Amino acid sequence: MTIKAGDILSAREAILLAEAEAVDLSPPIEIPPIPPEAHPNFTRDQKKHVELIENIQKLKRERKAIILAHNYMPKDIQDIADVVGDSLLLAQKGKESNATVLVEASVRFMQDILAVMKKPHQTVLAPDLGALCSLAAHAKPEKVLEWKEAYPDGIVISYVNTDIRIKAISDYCCASANSPKVIRYATIHHPDVPILFLPDVYLGLYAADILKKAGESIDRLWLMMGACHVHDRIKPSHVEEELRKNPGAAVVAHSECSCVSSCIQKIASGKTPEALMQIRSTQGMIDFVRNTPSDTVIMATEVGNIYPIEKAIPGKRIIPASKEAICAFMKQNTLEKVYASLRDLKYEITVDRELAERARIPIEKMLAIV
Ligand code: SF4
Repeated sequence: MTIKAGDILSAREAILLAEAEAVDLSPPIEIPPIPPEAHPNFTRDQKKHVELIENIQKLKRERKAIILAHNYMPKDIQDIADVVGDSLLLAQKGKESNATVLVEASVRFMQDILAVMKKPHQTVLAPDLGALCSLAAHAKPEKVLEWKEAYPDGIVISYVNTDIRIKAISDYCCASANSPKVIRYATIHHPDVPILFLPDVYLGLYAADILKKAGESIDRLWLMMGACHVHDRIKPSHVEEELRKNPGAAVVAHSECSCVSSCIQKIASGKTPEALMQIRSTQGMIDFVRNTPSDTVIMATEVGNIYPIEKAIPGKRIIPASKEAICAFMKQNTLEKVYASLRDLKYEITVDRELAERARIPIEKMLAIV
């Protein structure tokens, strides 16, 4: 039988196939073109830019609004945002906020979380409805329901990059920042039962490593063959090439990258000290860059994530493992669309009440286990 993206396999089989790149993990949804205003090298006419910022600030005051922006956003959106962070931080800050309008420049699965957690007086807005996620699109509820039927005592841990319908049938939800803690929590509190982790097979590989380090067998772990098309394309060869050009540089890789396995092996073999190579979450990369003794850091992540790190830690030289690692979905958000969103109160994100009640349970766990 041919294994396809979205299939659920035992962790051992999934890891072998992922390492051999034997399954086509291409995005199951169309990748939109990047608007010129969101391109990393775009510069706007200065006068227009100032006008746009002033208009956004004015509307923010009038609407009692805040802007939440993911780390992968274009720089100009990050510069005017009230909060910049990864999916976990945005969910936490969105939940805490009492603002009347929450504009979140991110992708749909994150905006859905705000819509589930929002207070009755709040409105959640997305600047662009085309901002989806290729990783989330790999996970189909039917596949998860089939697995649950086969393993009725099993538990499901879904990564935050999933559709709200997947969260509604999951026991736990986690973000890259707290995936090790959630995975450990779930394995300790549910001994001996099958565990399905989805949808990212590379993060699953990292999850398996966490279990092994805790002295647990990975025999009860199941993984879905899913991947983010941006991180999947950051290969071990990209990291090797940059290391050759920058001897002595440190390396930090996001746990969704396809170079994760080779990084884990290097660290485990003792060839590279942990101070110079680690797997980290979007947010956790900041701490690594701050603490590593090396002045140069190769970052295997979406290129937008370099900007908040350069801002937070000036003086370190940050090199992307791949300059091509740009998420076109995230880049559907532009400053112009953030302005239009605030001006016209579009596009409002809502979640069906019954679905929201079920999805709220694993989301609350994600916010609690940090
Ligand atoms: S970078 Fe990948 S995982 Fe993140 S939103 Fe884009 S497609 Fe999804």
